[in-house]
Amino acid sequence: MNPNEDVVLLGLRQRKNGAITEENEEIQRTTKDREVGNENKALLEEHEDTLNEEMGSVFKGTVLGDDLTTLAQNAAFKAENVVRKMIEAGWSVCHFHHLPKWLQDNDYLLFGHRPPLPSFDACFKSIFRLHTETGNIWTHMLGCLVFIGIATCFHLRPHLDVQLPDKMVFGVYFIGAIICLGFSTLFHTVNCHSEVIGRIFLKLDYCGIVFLIVGSYVPWLYFVFYCHFKPKLVYVTMMCTLGLMSLMVSLWDRFSETDWRPFRAGVFTTFALSGIIPTIHFGLLEGWLNAIFQKSLFWLLLASFLYITGTTLYALRVPERFYPGKFDIWLHSHQIFHVFVIGGALVHYLGLSEMAMHRLTLSQCSSVFS
Ligand SMILES: [Zn+2]
Repeated sequence: MNPNEDVVLLGLRQRKNGAITEENEEIQRTTKDREVGNENKALLEEHEDTLNEEMGSVFKGTVLGDDLTTLAQNAAFKAENVVRKMIEAGWSVCHFHHLPKWLQDNDYLLFGHRPPLPSFDACFKSIFRLHTETGNIWTHMLGCLVFIGIATCFHLRPHLDVQLPDKMVFGVYFIGAIICLGFSTLFHTVNCHSEVIGRIFLKLDYCGIVFLIVGSYVPWLYFVFYCHFKPKLVYVTMMCTLGLMSLMVSLWDRFSETDWRPFRAGVFTTFALSGIIPTIHFGLLEGWLNAIFQKSLFWLLLASFLYITGTTLYALRVPERFYPGKFDIWLHSHQIFHVFVIGGALVHYLGLSEMAMHRLTLSQCSSVFS
């Protein structure tokens, strides 16, 4: 090969390399990992031939006078496909420090992270693989299916059992729970797709929590203030307004940043605790020893205890902060938080059912417009 050809080839390689630099960086990060090592190295070698062929065609094209830019673009496009297929087929879990910044969330989980998987297909296939998100995905996916099952059975009951308006407020609760668990499942499945997709689904995940809180309070207020129309209207409006405000905060970009974890936990906890106001109001209105009040309070406190415990563990990142690297796959704080959320949601459903049954045994309200 004469020296001029060398210069041309070098120039071409530089142009081509520039076009695929980003993808190559992703591969390099992945290949540094302890588990990825051999597997991805083999894939790199396998696809290196393809890349060299593309280089060769660009060089030939130049000699034959083809349009250099078109050839370089074609080569870059093909190289991109090769790299994408390689990542999809050969990815393995990686160390926290090998993740790009936008995927670094919990530095107490050391190994077992998914690398970026820039295709929805690969993200959904990862549901069936073992990594830090497996438990998060499955807990809320199964929880979501359980609530779809409960909602279906509940709404197939004959009308004699439960009145239509009662069924409708239960519907509000089921929708809130299913949206929350469904959005959470989706977020944990696709958050490694790309920074933009991860951010969008993270916001949806937060919105789901707001739907669950609003969906929990609306039927609770409906049964507690069954015969008190005005306070019921005021508190339902208050909850919906707070829900709307929380939705707006959730959609704010800074809210989803890692450093804002305690603030996030604080916003949702404050929103959830705002139910203390109607609770005190009802105690003063009907008496602290009122049967439905005591029933509703017991279930509400139990559900709140589960939610708050889960949220506190999530905010403090317990237990992994005490044993970094020991809870990478199972039993880390986010998974425990998910289980507590499902427990809280089921307890709340039991509470609502008992309140509804209690209402059925009482006589009609003398006036619901007080
Ligand atoms: Zn989650």
